[in-house]
Amino acid sequence: MGSFEFIEKHGDHEQVVFCHNKDVGLKAIIAIHNTALGPALGGTRMWNYKTEEEALVDVLRLSRGMSYKAACAGLNLGGGKAVIIGDPKTQKSEAMFRAFGRFVNSLNGRYITAEDVGTTVREMEYVFMETPWVTGIPKAFGGSGDPSPYTAHGVLMGIKASVKSKLGVDSLKGVRIAVQGLGNVGYHLVEYLAKENAIVTCTDIDKEKVTKVAGQFGAKAVGPDEIISTECDVFTPCALGAVINDQTITKIKAKIVCGGANNQLAEPRHGDMLREMGVLYAPDYVANAGGLMNVFVELEGYSPDRALDKTIQVYDNLMKVFEIAKRDNIGTHTAADRMAQERINVIGKLNQTHQGFSSRPFSTLREVKNR
Ligand code: NAD
Repeated sequence: MGSFEFIEKHGDHEQVVFCHNKDVGLKAIIAIHNTALGPALGGTRMWNYKTEEEALVDVLRLSRGMSYKAACAGLNLGGGKAVIIGDPKTQKSEAMFRAFGRFVNSLNGRYITAEDVGTTVREMEYVFMETPWVTGIPKAFGGSGDPSPYTAHGVLMGIKASVKSKLGVDSLKGVRIAVQGLGNVGYHLVEYLAKENAIVTCTDIDKEKVTKVAGQFGAKAVGPDEIISTECDVFTPCALGAVINDQTITKIKAKIVCGGANNQLAEPRHGDMLREMGVLYAPDYVANAGGLMNVFVELEGYSPDRALDKTIQVYDNLMKVFEIAKRDNIGTHTAADRMAQERINVIGKLNQTHQGFSSRPFSTLREVKNR
C-alpha cells in the first residue's frame, strides 16, 4: 500500500510531516488531523516503535483523538500529535529535540506541541529554544506547568455531572467512589473528593501512594485487583488504558464509570456493553479534558484561576453528551464522537466566509490570492 493510501485508510488528515535529521538521529512524524476549529494541539510521544508503520498508525490515531477532545471541550483548537521513534531512556539528546523543534517551527503554529508519554518538561525546554509553538513549559518561562490538578478538577466536574444524571443528586456527600490509580491525577482527585465528603475507596500498585492517600484523606484502601468489583456508585479509572475489557466488564458493580485515564474502553463495543448493563459511561476524553483546557489558557496568557474556572465546563460538556446519547438512542461513547464531529462541521463552516480586511492591504489582490 502506498503512503497516501495508508494515511487515507486511517482517517482524513490534513497534513502528515515526516521529520528526519540523520546527524542527531531524529525520526519523527507530525500528524495534523483537523484545523477547522483552530491550530492543531497535541503532545509529542517518544516510543520505541517496532516499525515505522506502527509509529504512523499511532500518530494518525492520536491526532484524530485530539481533534475530538478539543471539539468536545469547546476549545478553538484542532487536533494534532507527534511521535519520535526511539528509546526515551537512552536516545534523547538536546540536539534531537532542538532539531524536532525546528520542524515544529516550520509549521508556523499550525501545530502546537506539548509533552506526552516518553517526553518531559525538560525536552520541551529544548523545543522551546527553537519555536514558540510549544505548551506545558515550566512556569518560569510563562508556561502552565503540571496540568494534573486541572485534569483532576475537570474529572471532579465530570463525576458531579454523571451523578446528577444517573442518581439525580447534586452533592457528592456520601456518594461511594472507587479510584484506581493514585498518581498525579488520582492524588489530586481524591483530595477534591474528600473535600466533597464523598466516601472514597482507592488503590494503586504502589503501596506507598495508597498508604499516603488513605492516611491523608481518610480513604479506604483495597488491593489493585479488588477495585473494579468494589461495591460503589462511581468507578473512577485514573491509571491505565483499556481497563474496561472482556475480563473486567462483568465485575463492575458501579452505576457510573467516570475517570481521568485515557482510552478506558478496550474497544468501542465495551461502551455498548456498559450501556446494556445500565452503567453510565462518561467518555474519557470529555471527562479528562481539564489538562487540555489548562494549556489552552497558556496560549491566551496564563492565569491559574482562569484555567481552573475553565475546567468547570466539563460538567456541561458531559451533560450535552448524555443528552445526545438519549436523543439518538446511542451509547455515550458514540454520542461524544458525534458531538465532536457536529461542532467541527458547524463551527468549521463559519470560517469559510471572508471577513473583509481590517485595513486596505498594500496589494489587495495579492492578499486575496494568499488568503
Ligand atoms: P501517573 O503515572 O502519575 O499515575 C498513574 C498511577 O497509576 C501510578 O501511581 C501507577 O502506580 C498507577 N497504576 C498503574 N497500574 C495500576 C493498576 N493496575 N492498578 C492500580 N494503579 C495502577 O499518571 P497521571 O498523570 O496521573 O495520569 C493517569 C491517567 O490519566 C493516564 O491514563 C493518563 O494518560 C491520563 N491523563 C492524564 C492527564 C494529566 O493531566 N496528567 C491528562 C489527561 C489524561
